Amino acid sequence: MTSHEIRRHFLDFFRSKEHLIVASAPLVAKNDPTLMFNNSGMAQFKDFFLGNGTPPSKRVADTQKCLRVSGKHNDLEDVGFDTYHHTMFEMLGNWSFGDYFKKEAIHWAWELLTDVYKLPKDRLYVSVFQGDDKDNVPFDQEAFDLWKPIVGEDRIIYGNKKDNFWEMGDTGPCGPCSEIHVDLRSPEEVAEKPGKELVNADHPQVVEIWNLVFMQFNRKADGSLEPLPARHVDTGMGFERLCMAIQQKKSNYDTDVFSGTINVIEELSGKKYEAGTGMSDVAMRVIADHIRAVSFAIADGLVPSNAKAGYVIRRILRRAIRYGYSYLNLTEPFMTKLVPTLAMQFADVFPELNAQRDFVATVIREEEISFLRTLGTGLGRLDQIIGDLKGKEVIPGETVFELNDTFGFPADLTALIAREKGLSIDETGFQTALQEQKVRSRKDAQSSAGDWIELTELDNKVEFVGYDQPESYAQIVKYRKIQNKQGTQVQVVLDKTPFYAESGGQIGDTGTLRLFAGSGEIGTLTVLDTKKENDLTIHIVENSTGIDELLTEADSVYAAINTSRRAQIASNHSATHLLHSALREVLGNHVAQKGSYVGPDALRFDFSHFSKVTDEQLAEVERIVNEKVREDIPLDEKRNVPIDQAKQLGATALFGEKYGDFVRVITFDPSYSVELCGGTHVYRTGHIGLFKFTGEGSVSTGVRRVEAKTALGAETLVNEQMAVVSELKDLLKAPKDVVKAVQALMDERSTLQKQIEGLQNEKVQQLKNQLLDKVELVNRNGGSGHSRLVEKVDVPSADALKQLAYDLKAKVDNLAVVLGADINGKPQLAVMLPDSLIQGKNLNAGQVVKELAKNIKGGGGGQPFFATAGGSDSSGLDAALAQGKELLG
Ligand code: ATP
Ligand code: MG
Repeated sequence: MTSHEIRRHFLDFFRSKEHLIVASAPLVAKNDPTLMFNNSGMAQFKDFFLGNGTPPSKRVADTQKCLRVSGKHNDLEDVGFDTYHHTMFEMLGNWSFGDYFKKEAIHWAWELLTDVYKLPKDRLYVSVFQGDDKDNVPFDQEAFDLWKPIVGEDRIIYGNKKDNFWEMGDTGPCGPCSEIHVDLRSPEEVAEKPGKELVNADHPQVVEIWNLVFMQFNRKADGSLEPLPARHVDTGMGFERLCMAIQQKKSNYDTDVFSGTINVIEELSGKKYEAGTGMSDVAMRVIADHIRAVSFAIADGLVPSNAKAGYVIRRILRRAIRYGYSYLNLTEPFMTKLVPTLAMQFADVFPELNAQRDFVATVIREEEISFLRTLGTGLGRLDQIIGDLKGKEVIPGETVFELNDTFGFPADLTALIAREKGLSIDETGFQTALQEQKVRSRKDAQSSAGDWIELTELDNKVEFVGYDQPESYAQIVKYRKIQNKQGTQVQVVLDKTPFYAESGGQIGDTGTLRLFAGSGEIGTLTVLDTKKENDLTIHIVENSTGIDELLTEADSVYAAINTSRRAQIASNHSATHLLHSALREVLGNHVAQKGSYVGPDALRFDFSHFSKVTDEQLAEVERIVNEKVREDIPLDEKRNVPIDQAKQLGATALFGEKYGDFVRVITFDPSYSVELCGGTHVYRTGHIGLFKFTGEGSVSTGVRRVEAKTALGAETLVNEQMAVVSELKDLLKAPKDVVKAVQALMDERSTLQKQIEGLQNEKVQQLKNQLLDKVELVNRNGGSGHSRLVEKVDVPSADALKQLAYDLKAKVDNLAVVLGADINGKPQLAVMLPDSLIQGKNLNAGQVVKELAKNIKGGGGGQPFFATAGGSDSSGLDAALAQGKELLG
């Protein structure tokens, strides 16, 4: 059975059991502050378990792209060394939201594995939760009773809380699980040792393939458990491991999920994959694994960067590059060459990669080029460090950390190179430095949340009324306090709200909540921001004394947003849509949105494009947007459009966005701009008034950013610029053409500058002639003697002083000169000596000038025949010259 067939059979099987098959959510988790990447199939359904929304069906199944490289699940360091943990993998899952429970889940799992996939029954083991006295949770008798007739008691394993009790987080839904393990060893090995003894023992051929979670409890903040009113099933099966079991392989990498990519790596490196434990085999596994994680993450909208999720992707990519570099001798970009094979392989399962394959390949290539350069620099620095060790044999941990932290030069690579040179690294010291940094960054991110105080039931979802009205009466559903860097804040949830919660780049609304109880108003709270947590809209208000009483006493709330701020936001958001289409028109259809910021002050739009947007292109885009503004196109807003219909309308669908089955479509002229969007917009483009760019730049490889202002913001911008021009005009005495006037001023300035230089030159020449008259002949000890000139002069610059000394030397043979000048309040000295004094008398202009400079509180130096000095006390010039006369006498 090929991997394609295996995946299809899974979905068909659960379709036949009345499950709705849904698409995978993107790898990057959206609207969930606790999660960076989707790391399990259930992540996209969290809300349904928490009761914050209604699922599209009570039974759902899918294959979900998962990434386990951060947070609670981090398998990164195992990947490549073992044969069954990946960074990115597919998790096949089936769910019951308050519908079927353990019986069906267990029976169907068994039926699928043994009837459809024909896995041998005697090679399967299952685990059930053994109970935990400390936590007051009982043994899962129900699951045990269901499994016993199927697998027999001797193939049931009792699992502890760590392996067999699942919790969503510190609080929330939880329950026992039942895992299914498979033994893939040879009959000889099985005869030697029963598989049961190897379950959960990290044996590469006795692995867990499926985990069935039965959610039946809710954990409260005080740690206690209460039964959930609606019980759920959440299962997750590792697709690659399942393929290994069905295709009877010893490793996930031997299945057809990976063999295509491994073939290409073999071709590129000229080495053969031996499926062993040698480092070149590890490297091939690392590369075959990481290229998936990186490619799919980029296709889902991430780009490698220096922060957050982008940084995680960068690290994964770099890990692969470095294994290739160190163990396969791949010193030119190679990861980028694996993209096409992968894109083809998944074209029908996850089409987002194939659709953006050139973009993905280019981003990876640029990243590779720059990291390979870093590797080069790091290697150079390391050579230097090793040279400086002077016989010591251990590279200090601090140094290893610094290489890692500032050059991105990984510790194990340092260790490897050190080993090659007969050295080692201080591993403990490195770990300590790393740990210290982790503690530092954890401190920065710390925040904690209290329990929700529930006030009224929420029937369904929070209703958003803000598309149509800026104000609304509402009920408080619940609130809680959170501690974060800003101190204590209170999060309030209403049953309906006009407040737009930050999402899709548009920032959250601010405004007020007026609280009413009985017949009167009891207080007003200021909403500082509005955010989304999964499907909940959270109003963030300042904490104040008595706020608990206010919130619990209030029977209703009048929620009102800041409307002028919202109007600016709407203008910026609609302008972003017009901008998107204009960019595609001017730059080409490769332009895809990569991120945006829509605030009251400005808008920012990031998009894929590989070169700088020229001034001419920007001007053209701006012209088109403003033309669309003036056309005053009415907003066409369609809510609850089925996704297929939206695509037919030509909506610019964004890969990496998680859409429900029904979407909102925003159109400004069906032939110009059609987008899927949840944001708030102007009713007619004319409301945007004016659109002005304020900046263009690069965000990361292949992604550009433009910034702009609209409406009042644009007006202010234009007014400021015009004010500058008008001030200039005033200064220039109202010329007809300001630019010409400024140009004329600059021309005039340079002419004058030249004239001044000419005059100064002339003056220096005159001075020189005068000085020639003052040259004295010094007849020392009856010898042939030398000439001497010691004078205070009036010159405009130190350069002129130097020039003067040289000119004099050229005119008079065997001349010794000391010149002093006060140049704009600063004393300056120049000393020039003839050979006769340098050789004959062993004098040195540098030393002479240093000696003389003491008189002017300064210092200087130069060559033996010419030196200069500056000082801070002009009153000492005469003394300096007198001393000079003495010395050269
Ligand atoms: P393991 O103990 O093997 O790491 P787990 O307990 O972390 O597995 P679950 O969180 O229960 O796994 O995930 C459900 C299924 O997903 C597992 O049964 C397994 O088949 C698969 N799985 C988990 N982690 C990975 C991974 N890193 N790579 C590939 N498949 C995985
Ligand atoms: Mg795990």
